[in-house]
Amino acid sequence: MAASHRDTATGAPGTGGYRIGVDLGGTKIEVLALDDGGRERFRRRVPTPRGDYDATLDAIATLVAEAEAALGERASVGVGTPGSISRATGLLRGANSVCLNGRPIREDLARRLARDVRVTNDANCFALSEASDGAGVGADVVFGVILGTGVGGGVVVGGRVLDGPNGIAGEWGHNPLPWPRDDERPGEACFCGRRGCIETFLSGPGLAGDHRRATGEMLAPEAILPGALAGDDACEASLVRYEARLARALAHVINLVDPDVIVLGGGLSNLDRLYANVPALWGPWVFSDRVDTRLVKHRHGDSSGVRGAAWLWPATHRGGAG
Ligand SMILES: [Zn+2]
Repeated sequence: MAASHRDTATGAPGTGGYRIGVDLGGTKIEVLALDDGGRERFRRRVPTPRGDYDATLDAIATLVAEAEAALGERASVGVGTPGSISRATGLLRGANSVCLNGRPIREDLARRLARDVRVTNDANCFALSEASDGAGVGADVVFGVILGTGVGGGVVVGGRVLDGPNGIAGEWGHNPLPWPRDDERPGEACFCGRRGCIETFLSGPGLAGDHRRATGEMLAPEAILPGALAGDDACEASLVRYEARLARALAHVINLVDPDVIVLGGGLSNLDRLYANVPALWGPWVFSDRVDTRLVKHRHGDSSGVRGAAWLWPATHRGGAG
């Protein structure tokens, strides 16, 4: 059925090896098409229909149709979402766009688009994008970290997202901060129900909250670096604490996954000092006499989600099967 749809829709199977990526966010849905060389051929974004699952699927289907009209042929489709899909149930859970939770979004999209669709979470898309043609290109094992409103992670091995039965590989943001000091215990309450999660220290709100507790001063996370550069000792101290915590949290990852490259994304990845300071701190926590893991900044920035979604399919796939 899918093949006949493809043939009637476009006349002939595509030969361009195009991949369409969809980034389904809480406020916007973005679609992008890459050609087989990874070059961007189409991009469009629309606001996410608020709290309306069916309208969200409709918006994705419309964007895919517009992209394929522009390309002149059918393409593979990958989708990045918040949350994760349970392999056992096929249902999405843990998305902050709660209308998506409990829905079989992959099956529903596959039906609407008349093809197999790959869906993974946005942190995995980030990691895959950076591993495919970004800051982690050429590396075998890439750990992608998003340090933003929340803290997420994804693991790519040999160009493929590590995707286990629970769909949570790399999600270490709700592990406890490792090797906590006495003044870091028990830590702040986290929305997940526990205390002292890595996310409560290393997200943007986590950094701002830590600075507020230390100083009584409410500062946006993006104002703390300029404060430090302007000679504010309290801002500098907050960044020093942040770097020490990030070093311990990443040392945990290195001990477990031993990535060649760790790529940082999200708003706090723009703190350029992290890339020198954190590797200088993580040595004592890594179970090795030397640490060759590289810590690098993302290359694709805000486009990583949508690019990684496109990379969920290999270049040879023409988008028809399924
Ligand atoms: Zn948590």
